[in-house]
Amino acid sequence: MSSVDGAPAVLARVPAGMHIDGRWVAAIDGEEFESVDPATGRVIARVPRAQAADVDRAVAAARSAFDDGRWGEAVSARDRARILHRMSDLVRERRDELVEIEVLDCGKPLADARGDIDEVAFMFEYYAGWATKIAGDIPPVGSDALSLVVREPVGVCGLIVPWNYPMLMAAQKVAPALATGCTVVLKPAEQTPLTALCMAAIAEEAGLPAGVLNVVTGFGVEAGEPMLTDPRVDKISFTGSLGVGRHIQRTCADQLKRVTLELGGKSPNIVFGDAPIAEAIVGTAAGIFGNQGEVCSAGSRVFVHASVYDEVLEGMVAQASAIRLGSGLDESTTMGPLVSARQRDRVRSFVDAAPGDGARHVFTGALPESAELAEGFFVAPSVFEVPDHSPAIAREEIFGPVATVFRFEDVDEVVRQANNTEYGLAAAIWTRDINLALTTARRVRAGVVWVNDSQPAPSESLWGGYKQSGVGRELGRYALDAYLETKQIYINLGS
Ligand code: NAP
Ligand code: MG
Repeated sequence: MSSVDGAPAVLARVPAGMHIDGRWVAAIDGEEFESVDPATGRVIARVPRAQAADVDRAVAAARSAFDDGRWGEAVSARDRARILHRMSDLVRERRDELVEIEVLDCGKPLADARGDIDEVAFMFEYYAGWATKIAGDIPPVGSDALSLVVREPVGVCGLIVPWNYPMLMAAQKVAPALATGCTVVLKPAEQTPLTALCMAAIAEEAGLPAGVLNVVTGFGVEAGEPMLTDPRVDKISFTGSLGVGRHIQRTCADQLKRVTLELGGKSPNIVFGDAPIAEAIVGTAAGIFGNQGEVCSAGSRVFVHASVYDEVLEGMVAQASAIRLGSGLDESTTMGPLVSARQRDRVRSFVDAAPGDGARHVFTGALPESAELAEGFFVAPSVFEVPDHSPAIAREEIFGPVATVFRFEDVDEVVRQANNTEYGLAAAIWTRDINLALTTARRVRAGVVWVNDSQPAPSESLWGGYKQSGVGRELGRYALDAYLETKQIYINLGS
């Protein structure tokens, strides 16, 4: 990163350059691009704009680091664990500066960024624990042979991440990849490159050997795409949009690269008539308005039983009107700006088109008044009622603070409607009836189902989507499978 006049002092803590083969380097052609504070629209940093030649160097570094065993045979699993623990400690030590950098780069409120960075620290700790526990199996094959099933790292991993939880999405891939002994080229989103660079600095300080974690900053087509076709890359793990996910799956098919995809959603949030209403209202609103609605699992389709419909709708409006938009750095802010002018315009176009498209406008909140924030990318939270899935806002992933509310009468109908989407990432169910909760949870085609809650994503558990929401699973022990190959070694014990 090169500094920008007048930029906040904390940005001096972001290393200058991308991290390739243990060195901090500029792009070969010297080009840079700008990172912007979405609350003000001001440029806060310039970072190297990687091209294919830069990615080539990063992949070469990761390939050598994998092939010469410096992160494999040369280190014990204990040593890998120790380095991951050290990374976790350093994230905790630098929490305040990482939080501030994250807020400046992506706009989210301080409280949310604190949650993210704390989970990043835990993520490294959690996978440090796994490093020493990845074990194989000895299936019985008869008395004259021994069959050993062993787990081995998949190799060089290209990790491509989005901007809504920048450091957390990166850690979600980097931590299990490193725990299994893989080497990495990480490409953060163009909007939010800064904390990925901080992560590389932390890894370096923690003693990670050079070349094991490389970070290339830049645009998808220039800095991401070359990894898809490079035969030295064994695995791509991607979090982002469905369109790019499909392109990655198609492109990687040529070399049968291993692919994990974490994509979008249009998740149902179902409030039954016997729900704990106060909690359901707060959780439902948080499920769509939290993190500015820039959440892949946002509960963007709210289904409310007719018997509590008016009460829940009124409650959601009350929750939305209590939201305070502002700079993420202001402690009293509860909703920050969207990440970019482009994202703001996209969300606004959905909101503007909704009334003419069969949705009934119920509420839109207030934008911040401060002149300082006049150029920020703010979108106020809004609530729409929809009769069915025909309005575009009821079907498409908006990735902004826009709730669409449906009325339902019976369980079969709401399950059918909940599943009436190409996506299948998450769902929330609010009811006091345990049988109803569990039977509905099993009928909803989604990878994550919350009962009487919305959005928790504990790193120890599981994440990932059914249908068009993705391929493979992340978090918990399930993420390890994404970075491991499985081998049989058969030993003849007979004559
Ligand atoms: P995106 O446009 O798909 O971008 C995601 C990442 O892919 C960015 O780093 C992007 O680079 C890169 N990329 C773009 N084109 C590429 C190409 N041809 N080859 C290689 N890399 C390429 O998604 P986004 O708009 O940043 O993020 C929002 C989407 O992510 C939403 O759809 C959301 O649902 C999804 N998401 C899913 C999860 C989950 O866990 N399921 C979590 C968070 C977000 P640039 O930065 O240059 O575009
Ligand atoms: Mg930014």
